[in-house]
Amino acid sequence: MSKRARKSSRRIIVCAFLMLAAGMPAYCQGSAILAGGLIDPATGQLTADQTILVDGGKITAIGRKLPIPKGAKVIDLSNDTVLPGLMDAHTHLCANVDAKWDLGDFWIMAMQRRPGYRALLGAANAREMLQSGFTTVRDVGNSGDYLDVDLKKSIEEGLIPGPTIVPAGRIITPYGGQFWDHPAKPETLDNPEYLVADSKDELRKAIRQNIYWGSQVIKIVVDGQRYQYDAEDVSFIVSEAHAAGVKVAAHAQTEKGARVALEGGVDSIEHGWRMTDNDLALAKSKGIVLVSTTFTISELIADGMEPDAAKRTHDRYVERLRKAYEIGVRVVFGTDLMSVVPGQTRGESALDYVDSFTEAGVSGADIIRAMTLDAAQLLGVEKKHGLLKKGMDADIVAVTGNPLKDPSSLKKVVFVMKGGEVYRKP
Ligand SMILES: [Zn+2]
Repeated sequence: MSKRARKSSRRIIVCAFLMLAAGMPAYCQGSAILAGGLIDPATGQLTADQTILVDGGKITAIGRKLPIPKGAKVIDLSNDTVLPGLMDAHTHLCANVDAKWDLGDFWIMAMQRRPGYRALLGAANAREMLQSGFTTVRDVGNSGDYLDVDLKKSIEEGLIPGPTIVPAGRIITPYGGQFWDHPAKPETLDNPEYLVADSKDELRKAIRQNIYWGSQVIKIVVDGQRYQYDAEDVSFIVSEAHAAGVKVAAHAQTEKGARVALEGGVDSIEHGWRMTDNDLALAKSKGIVLVSTTFTISELIADGMEPDAAKRTHDRYVERLRKAYEIGVRVVFGTDLMSVVPGQTRGESALDYVDSFTEAGVSGADIIRAMTLDAAQLLGVEKKHGLLKKGMDADIVAVTGNPLKDPSSLKKVVFVMKGGEVYRKP
């Protein structure tokens, strides 16, 4: 029996004993959340004075001033705005690149950090993300030897707190992976970060290896080398992955890389910083999602950029996001955080990306959609997560203020519930 199962069965026994002693049926009620305002990401509307009843980890009813079941724990959020748990579709929980220990070099981090350290780091980052309201994340690789899959299992078993994780496992790339400056590594050293695959046979095997070991999304790197996958390669990857019921996320940092990803029909383009207006229109018409990873200035500085360059880069990314939004591409929230912003947790740094969306002119309602409903659909978890309605998992956050009017309210998370368990008290 898992720790979580032990904990909940102990609670049921204590609860049943109290109920029986009071002459009531041995049925234990869950929680009743009193929400001052409740936002539905599907409509972008706020409804006042709603009660959310939660039992067995699920939402059992939502309505105006519902009667509170006897024995239910009342959670008073009547001064706050409640919305579904937030999502980050592009995390690397088992990687921190540090200026001191790794000289800001991702390759040094991958070389010298032992798997035990990176697993524990993943646990700490997962807890910090959850504390900031992120109840679901898609972890897109750079997690060593399937540490993201292990992190997911540990969270599901109740060993450690953290979000629901959709893990990518090892990133599939053309020869050399993303260690551009260190080309000898793939052939001379053990390289758990990437599955190097060039031919169709290698691609098929890499996809199958990932799925076998627990990947729930296939992450590929389209570009970054002078040689790269072509549209036929990407189309082959997509058909193999889709045949197994798994989506494909494509890292594409160049104009050519994004076009190849679009032509190959991936499910999401990660970054897409050099996408042209025509490519953005093509993404819209093909229903391909852009996970924008619109870095904040502070994250770019933490990554080693000079402040002026960080501002220029940030502004360029914001402009691309503005164009994508104006053209009508479905944009999903994703951070790509790996560097530590001094004085901030991973979750706090992630919430700061809300400002990038606001700067790009994205409305509060659409930012919320990008962080909940649209993210859930991309991640394939929309049957259980991303909306607050009867039967969904009770992944619920509360913020101070009204994020429809002032999106920066999304950064003021005061309450976090995941699967009916409270992880941050109001
Ligand atoms: Zn990334």
